[in-house]
Amino acid sequence: MTAIVQEGDPALRKVAAEVPLGEIESAAIKKVIADMRRTLSSAKDGVGLAAPQIGVPLRIFIVSEKMFEPDFAEEQTRWENAPETGHLVFINPVLARVSKKLVTMEEGCLSTRHRFGIIERAAKATVTAYDETGKKFTRSASGLLAEIFQHEIDHLNGILFVDKARDVREVKPEHRHAKS
Ligand code: ZN
Repeated sequence: MTAIVQEGDPALRKVAAEVPLGEIESAAIKKVIADMRRTLSSAKDGVGLAAPQIGVPLRIFIVSEKMFEPDFAEEQTRWENAPETGHLVFINPVLARVSKKLVTMEEGCLSTRHRFGIIERAAKATVTAYDETGKKFTRSASGLLAEIFQHEIDHLNGILFVDKARDVREVKPEHRHAKS
């Protein structure tokens, strides 16, 4: 399994590079995505993962298939497009639109183990990105999924939630919280 890069590692502070469109279906990119899927699947409390978190400086993030489970759906997340199954892959994602309305939420990160803080995020966010076959798509979301979009795109720009959060504190590992 690929280890998740932790705060302090310079890999988390680089601005990640776009994947050239002609390389999306290459073996190298397929391997990166497969590594990301395996790594996220093995992080029990993980709901999202960005490529820099496995040390790869490319603009790719994935959202866990857990997000489709009813207990996560109840967590005020609303899909505006029909959900699929399996981890969702976003290549070269762009935050196309965010709501003016902000929400205050508690956030954590797989790269800042056990630390949580209070952060303001846009209540709704729309992302355009390419899927694994190189097809462009758009997804809008609110709630936890909108938060994940913003958190992961921050990762691609070398930003960690602790840079923006207040009241950052340690939470015992057994306390189950979604992280990305
Ligand atoms: Zn994170």
